[in-house]
Amino acid sequence: MAQCDECGCFDDNWAESIDYPEHIAEDDDEKQQEWLEEQEAYEPYRYYYWHADIQEDYQMPAGYECLCQCCFGDFLNAGKIIEADDPSWDPETMGWFKPFTTECKQID
Ligand SMILES: [Zn+2]
Repeated sequence: MAQCDECGCFDDNWAESIDYPEHIAEDDDEKQQEWLEEQEAYEPYRYYYWHADIQEDYQMPAGYECLCQCCFGDFLNAGKIIEADDPSWDPETMGWFKPFTTECKQID
């Protein structure tokens, strides 16, 4: 299951849970695939970065659980993602999903 929290693009796993338009039969894989490929947000070949139940070697901004490679790169260039080789990396607290709260320090 992958859908980018920033741009909304998604992969094949996510597509399995999608509601297709009514004119496409639920068991018509071919039509479903055709429809999918017309969707701008369908990006099955992008890499998706996660904050899930294992520690990652990057820290996304608070509130983000999944980012596609494009948005991840944009955030990285903007200095909003901290990687494990950064001097400010804290192995105790970083690498995990952080829920967004208004008390969160914004990295601007
Ligand atoms: Zn994205």
